[in-house]
Amino acid sequence: MTETSPRGSLRRWPLMGVAADDSEDLRLKKAVLTITSTSIALLAIFWGSFYLYNGYTFSGVIPLGYSVISFSSTLHFFRTKNFAFFCTSQQLLILLLPFLLMWSLGGFANGSVVMIWAVFAPLAALFFIDLKAATRWMLAFLVLLVISALLDQTFAVHARPMPAGVNTAYFLLNLGCGFILIALMLYHFVKDRESAYAKLQQSETHVRELMLTDPLTGVANRRHLDNRMAMEMSRQERYGPSLSVILTDVDWFKHVNDTYGHTVGDTVLKTFAGHLGDSLRTSDFVARYGGEEFVLLLPNTTIEEAVALAERMREATKRLRFAQSDLCLTASFGVTVARPGETMAEVLSRADEAMYQSKSHGRDRVSVLEN
Ligand code: GH3
Ligand code: MG
Ligand code: MG
Repeated sequence: MTETSPRGSLRRWPLMGVAADDSEDLRLKKAVLTITSTSIALLAIFWGSFYLYNGYTFSGVIPLGYSVISFSSTLHFFRTKNFAFFCTSQQLLILLLPFLLMWSLGGFANGSVVMIWAVFAPLAALFFIDLKAATRWMLAFLVLLVISALLDQTFAVHARPMPAGVNTAYFLLNLGCGFILIALMLYHFVKDRESAYAKLQQSETHVRELMLTDPLTGVANRRHLDNRMAMEMSRQERYGPSLSVILTDVDWFKHVNDTYGHTVGDTVLKTFAGHLGDSLRTSDFVARYGGEEFVLLLPNTTIEEAVALAERMREATKRLRFAQSDLCLTASFGVTVARPGETMAEVLSRADEAMYQSKSHGRDRVSVLEN
């Protein structure tokens, strides 16, 4: 949202008392509290006027007084931007609301038509502060309840009872309004929790990815290889299909670093790792095993198929092109297959042995060691 934008989102809506640098959460809280308190104050004007109009002076003055105080608190907030004070004053008003209404109607018996608003005190506290504060508010609410009970007869003298029809209409109206506001609050509460949970899951996934990924090449790291290989080997133990393993090592890589520099060496490694991944099926797996060594796990793949794949990769490696036009890459490959009952270390060591056979036979080749 730019400064010159003619129409504003919540961020630009001065009525909400929102400042440009408020966090998403704070903006939402300000908007919800402003809307809730304004709605309740407007309803109080409606109720107060209705009472006054029907000759219930004592009953009318209290809700009207409430709305005057509530609007003053909102205006004060807009002027001073003091949200903490606004929160406290509104929570105090919401806490008092059911009692004020009840007293205005002449005590518990007559005031039962508005008791739905009583639920707001602890709910508002829970919504805007924390569980501990909500408990304190609940206690304050209970104290007010006791005071009301003690003064019940005093209030009863002041108010004339409403006709039964009006009482019923009021009860339903209050019930409807109360439930709508409670539903809105709960909706926000649940949404808030859901988004917090989603964020947590996101960062957890991100951390897990970081833990399992090689930062340079973006393929799986050694830790991920260990986990995955253990899983594939136990699956192979149970279900039988062969798990082939290829170990590959870039030839003369030290020479690449020495000639073109470490940065070019890094780029070459990234390109090589990407090229290995490109040739694989979704069930296959590639990981960086060490500096310029990579391991490929090929579930449900016979050793002949694995050798064919390694050959294709070897050929394709030679065709890789880099910004340094005279830079040509080759790699040596060792292929093996995991036998039932073997450990991971045994399989990898055999793949390594096969790869070293390729090295010792002149590099840029594929060697196989079945057992
Ligand atoms: P061979 O054909 O026998 O495999 O020879 P080589 O030069 O590839 O093997 P050697 O093990 O002697 O050298 C590997 C080099 O890889 C040495 C090391 O500095 C380099 N290296 C390891 N990790 C990285 C890396 O992340 N980036 C870069 N640029 N170089 C790396
Ligand atoms: Mg090497
Ligand atoms: Mg090496």
